[in-house]
Amino acid sequence: MKIITTPAEMQCRSDAIRRSGKRIAFIPTMGFLHEGHLSLMREGRRRAEVVVASIFVNPTQFAPNEDFGRYPRAFERDCEMMREVPVDVVFAPQPEAMYAEGAQTWVEATEITQGLCGAHRPGHFRGVTTVVAKLFNIVKPHYAMFGEKDFQQLRAIQRMVKDLDFDLEIVPMPTVREADGLAMSSRNAYLSAEERRRALSLSAALEAARREFAAGARDPRALVRAACAVLSATSELRIEYIEAVDSESLKRIERIELPVVVAIAAHVGKTRLIDNAVFAPAA
Ligand code: AMP
Repeated sequence: MKIITTPAEMQCRSDAIRRSGKRIAFIPTMGFLHEGHLSLMREGRRRAEVVVASIFVNPTQFAPNEDFGRYPRAFERDCEMMREVPVDVVFAPQPEAMYAEGAQTWVEATEITQGLCGAHRPGHFRGVTTVVAKLFNIVKPHYAMFGEKDFQQLRAIQRMVKDLDFDLEIVPMPTVREADGLAMSSRNAYLSAEERRRALSLSAALEAARREFAAGARDPRALVRAACAVLSATSELRIEYIEAVDSESLKRIERIELPVVVAIAAHVGKTRLIDNAVFAPAA
């Protein structure tokens, strides 16, 4: 497994891979890997001859009051896990290698990032789309895997790829969960045992929304109410938002006639967690 730390060397390597007629699957991550990340890498392995993963905690997607400084990092352990997949190339630059002094160009999907997390984390998605655009130009992949766990991020990147004619395929991947339903996340490492127990109400709330939908509810507010009842009953959990919106545009809807995504963000102690589920009415 080759470890590359500069954009120039990565571009050189990607050019050589492409010249040899091989396809590149790319999995961007912020490291502190778990089974969710590995499922994306294995899908890359199935689709392409060469798998490239990046480990980069991107400073421009964190607000000054957020957890950039204490975001969990474990590069050696991550490498062990990636060797098992196996991943062929790890691109792991330092922030200075990614952002030259005087950098001032941003990529922003303006509408899809307005609601949900975008409304609570100003500048976050602009940081995400900018770094992903840069990574696409550096790694030059044919496929890039993104988890549905970060649903709005996935939609923003799909929008960017379409709007800017990036010549690659985005492969959405289902959320990988712990046996008890908790969506895997690097930030779960912040949770104490007691907080982890409380964090289970996010997936339980989505399950309540699913039951409501399965029972025939087609008013998005009914799904939100069912999810909200579960979260509100959990002590020391602060709801940031619960919404049921169109799963493509992420816009509010009056009735569920097309697939709907129920998305939740909540704070458990100092940790901000997100989760979501998509429900599709029969055609
Ligand atoms: P991160 O390291 O959190 O930036 O995530 C890197 C990629 O892994 C993103 O495409 C995430 O959506 C995806 N991902 C994170 N957690 C999960 C999960 N539990 N299941 C599937 N994909 C995930």
